[in-house]
Amino acid sequence: MAKSKIEWCDLTWNPTTGCLNNCPYCYARRMMKRLVKMQPGVYPNGFEPTFHPSRLDYPGTIKKSKRIFVGSMTDLWGEGIAPEWRGQIYDACNRAPSHKFIFLTKNPRKLIYPQETLFFGLPNHFFGWTITSHADISVLTNTSPNIPRNWFINFEPLLNRVWNIPYQAADKCKWFIIGCQTSAGRPVNVPKREWVEEIIQFAQRNQIPIFIKQNLLKAIPELPRLQEFPEGLR
Ligand code: SF4
Repeated sequence: MAKSKIEWCDLTWNPTTGCLNNCPYCYARRMMKRLVKMQPGVYPNGFEPTFHPSRLDYPGTIKKSKRIFVGSMTDLWGEGIAPEWRGQIYDACNRAPSHKFIFLTKNPRKLIYPQETLFFGLPNHFFGWTITSHADISVLTNTSPNIPRNWFINFEPLLNRVWNIPYQAADKCKWFIIGCQTSAGRPVNVPKREWVEEIIQFAQRNQIPIFIKQNLLKAIPELPRLQEFPEGLR
């Protein structure tokens, strides 16, 4: 468990690490390489998906309620991550109910494991899907039966214009996060201002709280400084 520089959470917790998604902009893989230089052996399997059962009880050791991002160094629904690992992670969350657990994936189609949908209704679990461009939008329409109670969209990094956001988002989405790609702490591949404004307008029309990350505000200072949280995460 580590204090996080990610603005929308207090702590990150990585009971699994590694990912085979191979996103070209992956921050976690770069971070892993830096950590390995400082602490050789800390990632014995490199960026291969790996389960760390010894970390499961970390949330229970934190007394004060925190926003915990589960899996900042992985995609919990990526290839090579066993559903049983997630089952054990949910159980660990259940043993520490004072916290708010935030999950993020680029593979929402995999949110079909029956044990997972049981957790979709919990008020302290937030499930986010990452959308980086319009091509990802079909994921929203194709997975609508499995939308969790606290569902949000993470437009990060926003790489292209996203239009025609479907009605599922307007009706059921609790939160939008928008961010930009960074390299060595600096914004790169900055999205056009109008792409961001289009998403902001959609959110505001539908009363969806919106969190614009500092990296994007730095890249496009004209954007409104909106850093809102949904009910349950405030
Ligand atoms: S899904 Fe996340 S952790 Fe996996 S490669 Fe892409 S950015 Fe990295």
